[in-house]
Amino acid sequence: MATDWGYEPHNGPDTWPSKYPQAGGQSQSPVDIVTSSIQSRSYDTPLTWKYGPGICKTIVNTGCGWRVDVQGNDSELSGGPLSESYELVQFHSHWGNDSTCGSEHTVDGKAYAGELHFVHWNRDKFPSCAEAVPSPSDLTAIAVFLEEGEKNPEIDKLCEVLSKIPSKDDRTELPEDLDPVGMFPADHSFWTYSGSLTTPPCYESVTWIVFKTPITASQEQV
Ligand SMILES: [Zn+2]
Repeated sequence: MATDWGYEPHNGPDTWPSKYPQAGGQSQSPVDIVTSSIQSRSYDTPLTWKYGPGICKTIVNTGCGWRVDVQGNDSELSGGPLSESYELVQFHSHWGNDSTCGSEHTVDGKAYAGELHFVHWNRDKFPSCAEAVPSPSDLTAIAVFLEEGEKNPEIDKLCEVLSKIPSKDDRTELPEDLDPVGMFPADHSFWTYSGSLTTPPCYESVTWIVFKTPITASQEQV
């Protein structure tokens, strides 16, 4: 992982454009979603997803959180704002020190306790995710807000193995039955916009799909 960017004054987001020119662009994420200025629209086909069993292989300690690496052949995200078919490659979370901050996107200025990002790439156009990353509009990320409440059973499966990966770059296997859909809200309405990866190199190549409804996780899980 790059070490020349972070969230401290000397290497925070204000400094990213000098090292990663893409980070100074006009379509940077995350954003505050201002619900009063949202345009509603309908799609010819609804947004649909399929995640086959056993695709969540390993969880890795990234140094600033965790990431689940996926073997995504048996996954597909399409429809809605997407004109092609996308494959899940990884998901990870962002959280804060308390339940009033932590999410990357905000809604009318309000932050959630945390946010999950499910990163997908355009497999209709590219042979691999690495080739899709720098290309405009060829990544799609689903964002799910977390708020404190009832325990989420899928997040529980992740929490159970976190003790096995105490240090950066530690990695461990995940149970076969971990299901990404169990971390999506029951209400599937969403906002969508074109933006960027939220960490350098900040390529502006991401169609964001942000579920309007948060899921709950226990205080302990958050
Ligand atoms: Zn993220």
